[in-house]
Amino acid sequence: MIYEDAMYSLLKQIFRTGIKTETRLINSTVRLQVSSDLQKTLVKHFGRALAIRHVDAGSCNGCELEIQATNNPYYNLEGLGIHFVASPKHADLLLVTGPVSKHMEIALKRTYDAMPEPKWVIALGDCGCTGGIFGETYATSGKVSNIIPVDLTIPGCPPTPMQILQGISAVILKSFS
Ligand code: SF4
Repeated sequence: MIYEDAMYSLLKQIFRTGIKTETRLINSTVRLQVSSDLQKTLVKHFGRALAIRHVDAGSCNGCELEIQATNNPYYNLEGLGIHFVASPKHADLLLVTGPVSKHMEIALKRTYDAMPEPKWVIALGDCGCTGGIFGETYATSGKVSNIIPVDLTIPGCPPTPMQILQGISAVILKSFS
């Protein structure tokens, strides 16, 4: 009887609460336009494949969650020919998050040096762009451009998947325009 009461009150709570998932804020037309422009450039210049190496140089992992979301089927990165790779030797684009911690400086430089030319670097999130709330301290070297050359910054704490997609698109389109 106790369990039935508990189940009943749980069901009542569910019906009272309703569906609370967020309404979709992203304009699908913009997403499709960005995807289409990017895909045309990728097909033309990369033979339909853009390989990204991601380095977390000291992030709180908020930016990583948004990168994960960008990689879900809704944004269809794989369908566009964009994929993440484990080795910098296979990468065209380096995506760096976080203020660069002192411990990651050498690893970041080595990753950059290991990438073949031509190569691009995006600093992602406020921390990567400016050092963010961490700045430059005894433990952090601040923005990514303090360590390696950066082609584009995507601000935000963290930036949304749409902003990440637009940033990737912008750096590639800019390079071939
Ligand atoms: S920009 Fe914000 S979410 Fe990204 S690593 Fe810095 S504090 Fe975390």
